[in-house]
Amino acid sequence: MSFGDNIQSADWKKEKHIPAIELPEVIEAGKPFMVTVSVGKEIPHPNTTEHHIRWIDVYFKPESEKFLHQVAHFDFTAHAESTKGANEGAVLAHPVAAFSMTVKEPGMLIALELCNIHGVWESAADIKFAE
Ligand code: FE
Repeated sequence: MSFGDNIQSADWKKEKHIPAIELPEVIEAGKPFMVTVSVGKEIPHPNTTEHHIRWIDVYFKPESEKFLHQVAHFDFTAHAESTKGANEGAVLAHPVAAFSMTVKEPGMLIALELCNIHGVWESAADIKFAE
């Protein structure tokens, strides 16, 4: 048993925990592009003090390399906690992360997310260059 054996995956359109990765269909070397990673895009995930998404982590695996590179990490730290009690707080962070990046070669973008009670989930998207 390894850590990787405990990472869940599925189709993001059918499973609310899977990170949905959105990026341009075709990327150019050295040219910045936007990436959005969100959890619950098709089927909303609960966002309460008791049950929420804690973080999203994004990695790039270049086609020619063996190892992953971490690109970004987002912590979502407001879940309506309050002195008045759970879910009474003034602010909720939503599990949506947008950032810009550049790459030198095609590869794969991998997103992980942690639900505070349902563990770690993953998805991946190809970074494609024009033929
Ligand atoms: Fe959950």
